[in-house]
Amino acid sequence: MEKNDYKELKEQLLSTKKNGYDILPSAEHAAMEDYCAGYKAFLDASKTERLCAAETIRLAEAGGYRPYSPGMDVKSGDKVYVCNRGKAVMLAHIGKNSLDQGIQLAAAHIDSPRLDLKPNPLYEDSELAYFKTHYYGGIRKYQWVTIPLALHGVVVLKDGSRITVRIGEDEGEPRLVITDLLPHLGAAQNKKPLSEAIPGETLNLLLGSRPIGGEEESGRVKLAVMKLLNEKYGIVEDDLTSAELEAVPAVKACDIGLDRSLIGAYGHDDRVCAYAALKALLDMKETPAKTAVCILADKEEIGSDGVTGMQSAAFDAFIEDLCASQGVPLRACFARSFCLSADVTAAFDPNFADVFEKRNGAQLNYGVGLCKYTGARGKSGASDADAETVAYVRRLFDEAGVVWQISELGKVDAGGGGTVAMYMANRNINTLDAGVPVLSMHAPFETVSKLDCYETYKGMKAVYQAER
Ligand code: MN
Ligand code: MN
Repeated sequence: MEKNDYKELKEQLLSTKKNGYDILPSAEHAAMEDYCAGYKAFLDASKTERLCAAETIRLAEAGGYRPYSPGMDVKSGDKVYVCNRGKAVMLAHIGKNSLDQGIQLAAAHIDSPRLDLKPNPLYEDSELAYFKTHYYGGIRKYQWVTIPLALHGVVVLKDGSRITVRIGEDEGEPRLVITDLLPHLGAAQNKKPLSEAIPGETLNLLLGSRPIGGEEESGRVKLAVMKLLNEKYGIVEDDLTSAELEAVPAVKACDIGLDRSLIGAYGHDDRVCAYAALKALLDMKETPAKTAVCILADKEEIGSDGVTGMQSAAFDAFIEDLCASQGVPLRACFARSFCLSADVTAAFDPNFADVFEKRNGAQLNYGVGLCKYTGARGKSGASDADAETVAYVRRLFDEAGVVWQISELGKVDAGGGGTVAMYMANRNINTLDAGVPVLSMHAPFETVSKLDCYETYKGMKAVYQAER
């Protein structure tokens, strides 16, 4: 075979996945940087699901979205949103077609792994004051000690009034910390498996050390801390029982690498896809053919249950209300809808190559990562998109010039994970997972590639704008 014939045959028959930087036109580099600057600002404003929902609404209203209430008259071109209990947001850009043609959905989650305060959090031990925590989501506990932490959330009083708590986020403010053992005394701890070295009950936030009152008194540091909280927020210890206070890393999003090609931050999972889904919707100037819907859900990290999770009827109620305004049954709409379950995937990490299967791992800078299935132990817990749905997204992405790859989370039986995909698919909506590959997922400081962030945004746009 001639050399040129061979080359041609190879190009014709074999897969040619390329690094995104070999595909992305240089004219788009500035747009990518702009997009990522916006994303970093979004992250810094969105340390918790409540803050993220509030920031989402701020951006949505600036983009012409208005609050929706059931029974409201909506027509093609209208932009509406619903905020579910301050912790989840659903937005819709009403399309030209009737809702019986289905909707084009992107569903991401805005909760991230963190440390929640227990209902009776405050205590003193050895003249040091602490908050007890109960971790939320799948964390590796050893990663959360000896890093500066901030505290965010709400305290709700018996009369229903809500007090916003924000400690340790801004420049010049004190931070909180969880201490760890010094290496000099770590001989026994060093022998334990990573999962046992830092027991959950030692994830206690150090709050203070300065006593008040006379030396004959006890619990003086605890009282001093409660006094400070009372002065700042007007609360007493019992009020902490009806509170949602979350300790999160006190770090801001920043560029990573000498070439600034990466972004390091807390909470990429899944605000990186949430932002892509939101921004793509807000940037859509023309009325789409089908109604475009963006759902930013809470509670994914603990199973998507609850009133603000993706299993909640709040989503069905919103779409059903929109359908009712057009006299369309919800089930008819769902049956013709498509959902991109926008959640992060694991990026291949050469430092830990043995847990990945390289041919099917997501590679940084290779674009948005499609996942046909997630789950564990033989796809258990996965909705496993059908070939038709994968083909549909391949076409959409290729037509829109989106850099994409398809991958699995890791080696067969190395572990596994889930997303909201199955909860959408269970509603009779064709669903495929897609998202940004992440290094050190669920760590207090995760890393993603700017190119992958930008391509995910382009992918979301393609989904919303799809005509069929
Ligand atoms: Mn996720
Ligand atoms: Mn996660």
